Amino acid sequence: MNKEVVQSFQEASSSYGMREAIAEAKRCLRCKTPQCRTGCPIENDIPQWIHELSMGNLGNAMRIINGRSNLPAVCGRVCAHERQCEGHCILGKKEQALHIGKLERFIADFDSQMGLIREAVAPKTRGKVAVIGSGPSGLTAAGDLARMGFMVEIFEMEPVAGGVLMFGIPEYRLPKDVVRREIRRIEELGVVVRCNTTIGKDYTLDDLFDLGFDAIFIGTGTGKPRTLDIPGVELQEVRQAIYLLRLVSLFQAGNVQRQEVPLTQGQRVFVIGCGNTAMDAARTALRMGAASVQVIYHRTMNEMSALRAEYNDALAEGVRFHWQSNIVEICGQDGHVRSLVIEHAGQRREEQADAVIMAVGQMPASRIVSTTRGLEVDGRGYLLTREKPYGMTTRKGVFAGGDVVNHTATVVHAMQNAKKVVEGIAQYVDAIKLLETITGEH
Ligand SMILES: Cc1cc2nc3c(=O)[nH]c(=O)nc-3n(C[C@H](O)[C@H](O)[C@H](O)COP(=O)(O)OP(=O)(O)OC[C@H]3O[C@@H](n4cnc5c(N)ncnc54)[C@H](O)[C@@H]3O)c2cc1C
Repeated sequence: MNKEVVQSFQEASSSYGMREAIAEAKRCLRCKTPQCRTGCPIENDIPQWIHELSMGNLGNAMRIINGRSNLPAVCGRVCAHERQCEGHCILGKKEQALHIGKLERFIADFDSQMGLIREAVAPKTRGKVAVIGSGPSGLTAAGDLARMGFMVEIFEMEPVAGGVLMFGIPEYRLPKDVVRREIRRIEELGVVVRCNTTIGKDYTLDDLFDLGFDAIFIGTGTGKPRTLDIPGVELQEVRQAIYLLRLVSLFQAGNVQRQEVPLTQGQRVFVIGCGNTAMDAARTALRMGAASVQVIYHRTMNEMSALRAEYNDALAEGVRFHWQSNIVEICGQDGHVRSLVIEHAGQRREEQADAVIMAVGQMPASRIVSTTRGLEVDGRGYLLTREKPYGMTTRKGVFAGGDVVNHTATVVHAMQNAKKVVEGIAQYVDAIKLLETITGEH
C-alpha cells in the first residue's frame, strides 16, 4: 500500500454520493421477513429506511433511523456489518450483500450537512436521571431517556464526551467531528453533558442522589487494561494499547505534544493480541512512523476477535501476523526494550524489537464500586444487574449497562443493552413518583 496513505489519519473508507446511494438502495429486495433487521442488535428498521432512501426521501429515512439509534453516523462506520445486518442480507447469498452500513453513514452525514430533520424536544416531566460515562451506552441511555421526558445529566471524567468513540477508535476509522456531531444532536434533546467530572472522586453516587437524581445509569465501560505476566513487561517501551490510542487522539486534537506519544519514527513494533484494539494499535503505530509492525497472537486466525475487514486492512497496510505464537520474554537493556523471545510450535526464537504494545483485553475500573456501599460485582469486576426492573444493580435506583456489565463487546451491543436498561429506569422512576404522589412525599 502507498506509504502516504498509511501515514494519513484521514478517514480511510470512502462515502457514497447521492446517485450511488440511491442506486444501491434500489438493490434492496424488500424481503417479507427482513433478515437484516434480525441481524441488527438494535433492530434498526433497515428495509423501511432503505425504501425511503431509494425513493429519494432522505428526511423520512433519517426519521426512521432516529427511531432506533442515537449514533447512526458512528454505527454506519464501525459496526460489524459483516456479522450483523449485511451478514444476514439475502442478496449476499448470490451476489454482494447490500452495503447497509455505508448507506446509513450516507444518510446520517447528509442529515448533519443539510439539517434534514429537527426533533421536537420532549417536556421534561418524568424525573431526573444521572448518566455516568458518555460512551455509546451512556449516550444511548441519555438520548432515549430525554426523548421519553426525563431530565438527563451526563457525568464524564474525560475533558470531552464520547468514551471509546473519542479516545479509542482512531480518526482514520471514525473522524472525531462525526462523534462530536452525534453528541451535539443528543444535547439538542435537552441532555446536559458535564465533562471533567469523575464519579467516585468528585461526587459519590450518594452525592448524586442528594442532588435530586431519581435514578443513576452507570455506563463506565472497561477502561482498565489487562496485562501479561511475562518477564520484561516493566520496560519503558512496553505500553498498553488503550493508553497509547488515547494519547494519539489527544495529540491529534492538539492537546499533547508529539514527543509525549511514546512511539517514535523507525521503531520495530510488536503488538500482543488480535482484537479490534490490537488492529487499531498496529495501524496507528504505522501511521506514527513505525518501521515495521508485527502482531503476535496465541490462537489461530479464525479465533481472532478482530473484524475480518480490520484484519484485511491491517494486512494491506503491511502489518505482519504470527499465529499460535506467544511472547515469553521481553528482553531489555538499561530499562529499554531490545528484543523479544517468541515461542511457536514449541520452538523459541529471538527478534529485535523497539516497542511492545499490549492489547490483551480490558476490565472495569473499581472507582465507583470502591466508593459506594451495596454495589456488587462478579469475580472480574463487572457489575451485577437484575432482570426486573431491567438493569438495576444490587443498589436501589442504580442501574448499569454497556461493557461495564456485558464484558467488552461492541458499540451496537452497548447501545442495545442501554436501550433495555432505559425501560427498567423508566419503570422504576415512574413507580417511585407514583408512590410519592400517593404517600404525599416530595
Ligand atoms: C480501541 C478500540 C476499538 C474498538 N473498535 C470497535 C469497533 O470498530 N466496532 C465496535 O462496534 N466496537 C469497537 N470497540 C468496542 C466498543 O468501543 C465498546 O464496546 C463500547 O465503546 C462500549 O461502550 P460503553 O459506553 O459501555 O463504554 P465506553 O465507550 O468505554 O465509555 C465509558 C465512558 O465512561 C467514562 N467513565 C469511566 N469511569 C468514569 C467515572 N468514574 N466517572 C465519570 N466517567 C467515567 C469513560 O471516560 C468513558 O467516556 C472498540 C474498543 C476499543 C477499545
